[in-house]
Amino acid sequence: LTSGPFQNVPDRDFTIGSEREKLSTALAQVRSQFGQTFWPVVGGQARTGVPTAPSTDPAAPGTILALVGHAGVDLAEAAVQAAEAAFKSWYKTSAAGRAALLERVAELMAAQRSTLTAWIVYETGKAWREADADVSEAIDFCRYYGEQMLRLEATAQRRDLPGETNAYYYRGRGVAVVIAPWNFPLAILTGMTAAALVTGNAVIMKPAEQSSIIAAQLMRLFEQAGFPAGVVNYLPGKGSTIGAYLVQHPRVHLIAFTGSLEVGQRILTEASIVRPGQRHLKRVIAELGGKNAIIIDSDADLDQAVLGVVQSAFGYSGQKCSACSRLIVIESIHDAFIERLVEATRSLRIGHPKEPGNYTGPVIGRDAYERINATIEAAARQHRLVYRGDVSELQDGYFIGPTIFADVEPEAALAQEEIFGPVLAVIKARNFDRALEIANGTNFALTGGLFSRSPRHIVEAQQRFECGNLYINRKITAALVDRQPFGGFRLSGIGSKAGGPDYLLQFLEPVTVSENI
Ligand code: GLU
Repeated sequence: LTSGPFQNVPDRDFTIGSEREKLSTALAQVRSQFGQTFWPVVGGQARTGVPTAPSTDPAAPGTILALVGHAGVDLAEAAVQAAEAAFKSWYKTSAAGRAALLERVAELMAAQRSTLTAWIVYETGKAWREADADVSEAIDFCRYYGEQMLRLEATAQRRDLPGETNAYYYRGRGVAVVIAPWNFPLAILTGMTAAALVTGNAVIMKPAEQSSIIAAQLMRLFEQAGFPAGVVNYLPGKGSTIGAYLVQHPRVHLIAFTGSLEVGQRILTEASIVRPGQRHLKRVIAELGGKNAIIIDSDADLDQAVLGVVQSAFGYSGQKCSACSRLIVIESIHDAFIERLVEATRSLRIGHPKEPGNYTGPVIGRDAYERINATIEAAARQHRLVYRGDVSELQDGYFIGPTIFADVEPEAALAQEEIFGPVLAVIKARNFDRALEIANGTNFALTGGLFSRSPRHIVEAQQRFECGNLYINRKITAALVDRQPFGGFRLSGIGSKAGGPDYLLQFLEPVTVSENI
C-alpha cells in the first residue's frame, strides 16, 4: 500500500518528435497485422470454430482490420461454468496477490502503450491524443482499484472482547459479467473488469462489437500477466443474444454495464427476475447516458469558454456520455459568444485519425452515421442551424461535421434526447437563475459545466446544478481516475462513481464472523 495521493500516469506529449515517431511506427506495425482472427477465450482456451465477423475501420469502412469470433449461447454457457469453477479458488486468494496481478497488467499496458493506442485509433476512430488518454485511464484503473482493495482490506474491522472475537471483512460475490461500450474501448472495459477481478469475482468480458479487437488485446494482457484460467474470459459476440443470455443466467451474480439508457433499463428489468435455480439477487451497476449542459455566464472568460465548449462538445465527435450537448448562454453575451464558437469550430480539422493533425475522426459506424445525420436533417427543419462542418471532401468513412443549432427551446427533442454525436444545441437564457433551471430540466444528471467569474454564481451552481460531475471553468469531459470520480444519477445511472473510493464496495459481499472463545 503506497502512501500519499494516487499518481495518475501522464498522457504522451505528441509535440515531442520522438513520441510522435513511436505512435507512427506502431500504426504502421498494427497495419501490417490486419487480417488476423481473434477468438473468444473461455477457461483459458481460445475457442476457434465459432462464426466470425469482420471488424472494420470507421474512417475507411472497406478496410477489414480483423475477424472476430462471435460466441453463441453455447459458449456463453461454457463461460459461466468456467468462471464459476475459477471463482471457487479465486475469491480465496489474497487481495495483495490480486492487486499485484493488476499491477502487472498496468506495466504491460505501459510497455505496449503504442500498440494499444494504434488499435484504438484504427478500430474506434479516436484521434491520437484521445486514444492515448484511453490507455492512460486504463492503466490508472488497474493501479487505483488495486490500491483501493488493499485499503479496504487494511481497514477491515476487528473487535475482540473477552470471550468473543468479531471480524468484518469483504469477499467477492461470484460470476461478474462486464458489458462494455466502444467509446472508451480500453479504459471502461479495463475499469469495470479490474474492479470485479481485484474484489475476487470471476469475470466474463462482453465487449461492444465495435471494439472487440481492443478487448482481445486486453485479454492477451490478462493472460500475459498470469491470471489463472477462467478467472477472466473474453466473450465477443452479439449483445442481443449472448448479452441477454448472460444477464438472465441464474448463476451470474453481478452485471457491470456502461452504455445506453435503453439497454440499461432492459438489464435492470431482466436481472431483477429470480430464475429457477437462482439463489441470490443480482447486483447491477449501470452507467448510462447524459444530456449535459454548459452554462456561459455573462462575465465568463470567453477564450477559455470557447475552448472548453469545443473540446466538450466535439472531442471524439461528441461520442462520450460526458459530452456537452446543450449550451446555455446568458442573453447579454449570446450573439458574441456564438460568433466566436462558430469560428473556433470551423478551425477543427476532421479526417482519418491516423493523421496526427486531425482533431476528430469519424463516428463509430453506419448506424450511428445514419441516425445522427437524420437527427441533424430533422433539427434543421425546426431550429436555426448556425454551423455544419463540411465533410464533402472526405469520400470514405463515417464523418459528420460538427454541427451547432441556436435558439433551441429547452424542451425541444434536440435539447432533451441524447444524440451521441457532434451536435450542439444552444439555448438562450435571460439570467443565471433561468440558466440553472434550464440546465436541470432534463431526465439525466451526469456532467455539467459553468464558465463564470462570479464567486456567487459558482457557489450557487455547486448547490443547485443537478449533475454527478460539475466542472467549473474547464471542459466537462476527461475525468481522471481518483481526481474526478465519474458517474451520474437520475436516468444517468445507478451505482457509485468509477475511479472513486466507493466503487469497489459494489462488487463485494460484506461478511461478519463472530466467534465465541
Ligand atoms: N469518463 C469519461 C469522461 O469523463 C466519459 C465516459 C463515458 O462516455 O462513458 O469523459
